[in-house]
Amino acid sequence: MSLTLSDARIVTPEGVHEGWLTIEDGRITHVGRGSAPRAGHSLGGRHVVPGFVDIHNHGGAGGSFPTGEQDKAREAVALHLRHGTTTMVASLVTDTPENLASAAASLAELCEDGLLAGIHFEGPYISKARCGAHNPSLLREPTPAEFAGLLKAGRGHVRMLTIATELPGALDTIRTAAAEGVIVALGHSDADYDQTLEGIEAGGTVATHLYNAMPPLGHRAPGPIAALLEDERVTVELINDGVHVHSAMLRLAFDVAGPSRTMLITDAMAATGMGDGTYVLGSMQVDVADGVARLVEGGSIAGSTLTMDVAFRRAVQEVGLSLPEAVQVTSLTPARVLGLDSKVGSIAAGKVADLVVLSDSLEVDGVMQRGAWTTTEP
Ligand SMILES: [Zn+2]
Repeated sequence: MSLTLSDARIVTPEGVHEGWLTIEDGRITHVGRGSAPRAGHSLGGRHVVPGFVDIHNHGGAGGSFPTGEQDKAREAVALHLRHGTTTMVASLVTDTPENLASAAASLAELCEDGLLAGIHFEGPYISKARCGAHNPSLLREPTPAEFAGLLKAGRGHVRMLTIATELPGALDTIRTAAAEGVIVALGHSDADYDQTLEGIEAGGTVATHLYNAMPPLGHRAPGPIAALLEDERVTVELINDGVHVHSAMLRLAFDVAGPSRTMLITDAMAATGMGDGTYVLGSMQVDVADGVARLVEGGSIAGSTLTMDVAFRRAVQEVGLSLPEAVQVTSLTPARVLGLDSKVGSIAAGKVADLVVLSDSLEVDGVMQRGAWTTTEP
C-alpha cells in the first residue's frame, strides 16, 4: 500500500522545504519538492520531522524500566511514542548485579519485539561522589568479567554502559565493552580532565548527560566537561528540560560540539505523563513536584518528566537552534550513535517511515511509526 503525504514542510538536516513524500510498506520511497505528482493526504503546510530517537530514558506513564516489568515498560514506550519518540533505549539504574541481569533479560524480549532499541546500564559502575539519584550503597567497582555477565543477560541487546572512568578496573571494562560493540558513555564521574581523556582513549564515545553528575567547568580545572566537549570522538547527551541545564550552557555545548556531536535525551522517569506525587527510580524514592523529580532523601534531581517533543520545541524556541539543527540533535545524531542511521534518523528515501507532524507552535499533531499512524491521522 502506498501513501502520499503532500503540502508538507519537510525538515531535513540540510534545510526546510515545501514538498511531499510517499510511503510504501513502512518505508519512505520518495521525497519531493513542490506539489505532489498525485493527490495525497494534505498536511496543510505543517512541519514534518523524523521520529525522535531517545537514547536515555527510564520510563513514563507510571512505568519504570529498571523494574523490568514488561506491561509497564510497554505503557512507557506508548506514552513516549505519543510524544513523537519512535526509537528508544531503556535505561536501568544502579542495582544489584542479579536484579540488573533479570531486568535486562526481561527487557531484551521487548527489544526482540521491536519496541525498544536496546538497554543501557547507567550503573552500578559510577562514582559515589557523583551518583545523583543512584543508590550509593549498591555502587560497585567494575570488572570486565562481571560486565560480561550483565551483557550475556541482555542477549545482545545491551547497547550502552555508563561508567566513571576513574574507578579501579574502569579502563579495562571500557576496553572490553567497546570491543563487544557496546557504546561506552562516560558520566556520573568525578574524573579530572586527564582521567576523562584516558576514558576516551580506552573507548568512551558518549558523555552521559553532560554537566549533570560531574565536576563543573573550571578555568584551571577543566574537568570532564572540557575533555568531552572538545574531543571529536565524543557525542554529548543533554537534558533540555530547562531544569537540568540552563539554556546558555546548552548553547555553549552546542556551539562547541555542533549538531553532529550533540544529542538531546529525556532521562525521563516513571512520573512522565503523570501527575506530581511519589514514585520510585530503581531502589530510590522520588518526589515529583511541579514536574521536577527529586530524591526524597537529599533532594538530588532524579531524572526528568521530559518528553522529546518538548525537548525539540525548547531547542528551537528557548535555546535558538534552527529546525535543521533540532532534527539532528533529536534524531539523526542519536541514530548514528546507535548505528541505526541507515534506517532511521532523517526523512529520506529508503528510510523507515517514522515521522512526527508538528503544528506551527511545534506541538505534536500526529506520529507515524513504520508507515502507520499511531495517533489520529493529522
Ligand atoms: Zn538517567
